[in-house]
Amino acid sequence: MTCRECQDRLSPYHDGALGAGEAAAVSAHLASCAACGREWEAYRRALRVLIEAPEEPPGLASRVDGAWRSAPSEDSPRRGVILVVAYVLAAIVTVLVLRSC
Ligand SMILES: [Zn+2]
Repeated sequence: MTCRECQDRLSPYHDGALGAGEAAAVSAHLASCAACGREWEAYRRALRVLIEAPEEPPGLASRVDGAWRSAPSEDSPRRGVILVVAYVLAAIVTVLVLRSC
């Protein structure tokens, strides 16, 4: 499995939507490839931030996930931008919720 193939599958891998063979191939690649391991950690961290936001606007996580899925994998800087946007959105949501209490 190439890095691109692995990174294209991170989202369905996270969702448990891959077949057993494909999921095992992603696991094996992540275990042996530092670059993809970092992508995987960043992806999980971004999703966790969104999930832990106290009151997420409806559809925010799926919109970010959709943006992630649609980003061309050869365009890594764009994925980085999406992660930053996800963090900023989560921070804004958190501030808004705290101020409204
Ligand atoms: Zn890789």
